Amino acid sequence: MVVAQPLTASVTTLTGVGPGLQARLNNLGIHTILDLLLHLPYRYVDRTRLVPISSLLPGQEVCVQGTVQSSQIKFGRKRSLLCILSDGTENLTLRFFHFSQSQRTGLKDGTRIRCWGQVRTGSQGLEMVHPEYQFINEAESTALEQTLTPVYPATEGLAQARLRKLARLALAVLSRNPEGLEELVPSTTANILPELADSLRYLHNPPADADIELLRAGNHPSQQRLAFEELLAHQISLRILRQHIQQTGTCTLQNRDHQQVDKFLSYLPFTLTRAQQRVLEEINRDLEKDVPMLRLIQGDVGSGKTVIAALTAIRLITSGYQVALMAPTELLADQHYYNLHNWFSRLDMTVVLLTGKLKTTVRKQVSEQIASGQPLLVVGTHALFQEATDFGNLGLVIIDEQHRFGVHQRLSLMEKGAQQNRRPHQLVMTATPIPRTLAMSLFAELDVSTIDELPPGRQPITTVVLSNQKRDEIIDRITSVCTEGNQVYWVCPLIEESDVLQYQAAAKTHEYLVHMLPQLNIGLIHGRLRSQEKEQVMQDFKDGKIKLLVATTVIEVGVDVPNASLMVIENPERMGLAQLHQLRGRVGRGKTKSVCVLLYQAPLSELAQARLEVMRNQIDGFIIAEKDLELRGPGDMLGTRQTGLPQMRIANLIRDARLLPGIRQIADKMIRENPVQSEKLMQRWLSNRIGYGNV
Ligand code: ADP
Ligand code: MG
Repeated sequence: MVVAQPLTASVTTLTGVGPGLQARLNNLGIHTILDLLLHLPYRYVDRTRLVPISSLLPGQEVCVQGTVQSSQIKFGRKRSLLCILSDGTENLTLRFFHFSQSQRTGLKDGTRIRCWGQVRTGSQGLEMVHPEYQFINEAESTALEQTLTPVYPATEGLAQARLRKLARLALAVLSRNPEGLEELVPSTTANILPELADSLRYLHNPPADADIELLRAGNHPSQQRLAFEELLAHQISLRILRQHIQQTGTCTLQNRDHQQVDKFLSYLPFTLTRAQQRVLEEINRDLEKDVPMLRLIQGDVGSGKTVIAALTAIRLITSGYQVALMAPTELLADQHYYNLHNWFSRLDMTVVLLTGKLKTTVRKQVSEQIASGQPLLVVGTHALFQEATDFGNLGLVIIDEQHRFGVHQRLSLMEKGAQQNRRPHQLVMTATPIPRTLAMSLFAELDVSTIDELPPGRQPITTVVLSNQKRDEIIDRITSVCTEGNQVYWVCPLIEESDVLQYQAAAKTHEYLVHMLPQLNIGLIHGRLRSQEKEQVMQDFKDGKIKLLVATTVIEVGVDVPNASLMVIENPERMGLAQLHQLRGRVGRGKTKSVCVLLYQAPLSELAQARLEVMRNQIDGFIIAEKDLELRGPGDMLGTRQTGLPQMRIANLIRDARLLPGIRQIADKMIRENPVQSEKLMQRWLSNRIGYGNV
């Protein structure tokens, strides 16, 4: 008897999958046959029926069939091949900007073809640009597809046809080995939804009459079934993680020493808001328990999270412990160091900076200080945990702007400080505004506190949307802002993920502004500068020596210069709204009324217009985040990273939000009553994603 292939087998056990293909599949997170099954289409096209050309509407994605009437090369702004296709009802233009010689000769007059593509309005009526097509042989009528055609998330060098074939192979393995896919979700919850295996079969091959819109929106019961299971798996893993962490003791603080705290508060030029006081009290109570604190502080940009971090650190240091503060960027680490060093030196507390770029001798010295266990605050980037830094007596880990870190990055620092059945407290701070039920799922291992109030006296920021063609108009505005003693940020476009290109764009803008505003001192900061150089530029900006700072998006998080009252953002249409909101939060921190100019590149698409409109009308981060997700539409995979939400395989935390309530109870019950099933569920969904294993 042939032993059935397990679903956990590597993709290489499938026919035709060699090392090259394997590598490309790995890029998509696909390692096993099961991974292939869980790699679901993000949309479908209907090739089960032909649509008469006369009934086409712009925007439709359809299949048509007809005879090429004429085919010619047009030399306009761009050279293109134009074919006129007729099916007897009407004509349709097919437009190709890239074409080979054989394509050109293949599409000669009289040829019969079937083609698929999106219909749009062109200069000569309706057209399709770069449709997929197939030659039709009259002798043997070419059959139409029987099921909807899936479109999978793909990657370089991995075409749809190949992915479709692999999905078919994986489904075949599933039908030979149905026991390979155990039903793990408790039946009481699953019985309202279709079964797992049925869902997978359906989603890889929906029947011709399936509701394509429902599928596109991700709301089909089969999709919901999988999303539910995935969310449950995440929830279980995070809840187990929490249990695991809280199995050990911690540095329980017995009494509150008010002296240092009061001294610190008296130095501050302001009093804490009520929201800050409430959150601080929640933290203080955590610190007095005998299990490590696991707390997330949510608060919009500018809500004053740093002070909370400082006050928490003071309590630990006063009790003789060490505190580590991890920032996502070097720039932010520098700034925290600068602020906290100023504050803490007046309390006779030591603050050290630990980044990847320290000189060897300095680094050695700092490492020794940390290892000695002397009470201090260490501020750093992820070098803090990457390098073998041994904390002698770590009592608290603070993580700023956590959306930049993965779960395992956060926890590895906590594990570093673990010793003799004791783990440090953990405080995570984020400005990613997300609704409460969402936060509870996303950070299921953490307790959540929200600073839902901005410090008083903040002037709301006015946002202006302006075409790039009017860029010269801004020059006058910059001059007047600087004359009044305020300062300006000019943020250069986000160009993919390339440091080099970002730098070039920023350097060019810098040159332009120096030329236009010779009387001003204009600085330039970008990711390619050495850390001392960055520090110097920021310092000069803080001190007001630099009036206008040209920057790449390195300044996105945390940078705090209250005197800056104007921000110009180039190409805002290319950025996510959450990111724009973060950037804009760099101004409006002082007493002066601030302005943010969104300098877009015309023409704007309708969607881009709507998005910039949101930025102009809204200052509340929560509302912006919601609108952002609304406008994106759940099918939009692109740029989800920018929302700050983790990318899951199938579930979408916003779209599937209604599955969330209750999921925590189900997870906790399953962990208690079915630990083996729980483990298997994590294996199925998370095995090659997150290394929860050893934390
Ligand atoms: P974020 O929450 O974005 O990290 P910060 O901690 O950087 O915000 O605080 C933003 C600015 O507000 C800082 O200049 C900080 O000193 C100031 N600030 C914080 N709390 C208050 C308060 N209660 N009243 C007035 N200003 C405050
Ligand atoms: Mg901050």
